[in-house]
Amino acid sequence: MDLTALTIDAARTAIAERKITAGALAEAFFAKIEKDDPRIGAYLVVSKERASSKAAEIDKLAESGEKLPPLAGVPVGIKDVLITRGVRTTAGSKILGNYVPPYDCTAVRRLEEAGAVVLGKLNCDEFAMGSSNENSAWKPVHNPCDLSRVPGGSSGGSAAAVAADLAVAALGSDTGGSIRQPASFCGVVGLKPTYGRVSRYGLIAFASSLDHVGPLTKTVKDAALVLHTIAGRDPMDSTSADLTVPDYLSEIEKPVKSLRIGVAKEYFGEGLEPDTRRAVESAIQRFASLGCEVIDVSLPHTKYAIPAYYLVATAEASSNLARFDGVRYGYRAPNVRSLSDMYRRTRNQGFGGEVKRRIMLGTYALSAGYYDAYYLKAQRVRTLLTRDFEAAFAKVDAIVAPTTPTPAFKLGEKVDDPLAMYLADIYTVTANLAGIPGISIPVGKTREALPIGMQIFGKHFEEGTILRLGHAYERAA
Ligand code: GLN
Repeated sequence: MDLTALTIDAARTAIAERKITAGALAEAFFAKIEKDDPRIGAYLVVSKERASSKAAEIDKLAESGEKLPPLAGVPVGIKDVLITRGVRTTAGSKILGNYVPPYDCTAVRRLEEAGAVVLGKLNCDEFAMGSSNENSAWKPVHNPCDLSRVPGGSSGGSAAAVAADLAVAALGSDTGGSIRQPASFCGVVGLKPTYGRVSRYGLIAFASSLDHVGPLTKTVKDAALVLHTIAGRDPMDSTSADLTVPDYLSEIEKPVKSLRIGVAKEYFGEGLEPDTRRAVESAIQRFASLGCEVIDVSLPHTKYAIPAYYLVATAEASSNLARFDGVRYGYRAPNVRSLSDMYRRTRNQGFGGEVKRRIMLGTYALSAGYYDAYYLKAQRVRTLLTRDFEAAFAKVDAIVAPTTPTPAFKLGEKVDDPLAMYLADIYTVTANLAGIPGISIPVGKTREALPIGMQIFGKHFEEGTILRLGHAYERAA
């Protein structure tokens, strides 16, 4: 049995049946990380102590013959924007270079309570701002499918770790595509839940009205398992929804026959790479052959999504990142002359170039006299985009689209051209602006053997439907 290649489902079964111990499984991952991660760069910290003590706890429970929790002994990696008690958490930034949090974020706490073993913290773009992981203050991540290419971002470490068998599953965050796009680039499954489905407590904020926490996994069933564990109301996050969490494991087994699938022409326009188009079109054919009804829909405001996203996201970021001032916690510049000099030097030395660009853009968009022209207008576009989806979802149960217009690009290719980098987010930012759930699943490879991802969007809080479709596709393919 290749221990590091196991899915969550297989790992928890093997542990429950006492074929392997949680301790041996964790050790297998430590060894694999030590051997392979120097080439990939997915991990920022390996939390051996925390992982070993959790694994020992699970093994003791197994020996005693007690019923094991649902994710008993499953080794997971955590994106570095998610707070972990006692384990350094930097958000990929120098400004939090030595930050060791005193508490756990809710998603990690729930995973551990379900028996998961936290292997460590995964590399990402600084404050989750980016699409290539090249904005990490620490090191780049290499795509395991082709080391000369980016893994996507900002959850690049999470996607690469799952793709390279350096974790069974990972948590990521998605503000404009940061779970789905790297999942697509690395050939794994990535799920952005509905806004409010998963608590954001302990997620280092980028743009609070767009931020989501979700899983990256090897299979759709694994994504269902993780979502089920982390979802639900949390008194620590007032935006978390007080709704019952369905049993996604039984949801995914329901038949997909006669589900109505929408295809929007706005997602198949100019700039879509031909192999990606072909792969997504043949995936749509596959749904048709599974008995789904394929229906054309229109999302006419899609073309305004990028400017609206980059205004709302930067505006919220400029406000959220004001807290990093050298006073409360994190980095403080040495040898300063005054308080304002301390602020200036701390932020100048602590933040990287992309983060500074966004703080400036966002501050400008919010400034007196410009607010109506930029921020308010962007919020109006957001409403129009949400209405587009509402109108489409009156006719269909789900909407499918490519996750990204192109497969993984080369390291260094776009890093000096922020606009080109931003434009590549065209297919993912809409779901964040509307708050609807979206999953990216692998649907093939390009001629250069690079993974291609397809997204399935669902109605608010209907993760069950998109997981069901993804699971049916995965089985049929
Ligand atoms: N690539 C997008 C950005 O740079 C999305 C990032 C994210 O989802 N965190 O803002």
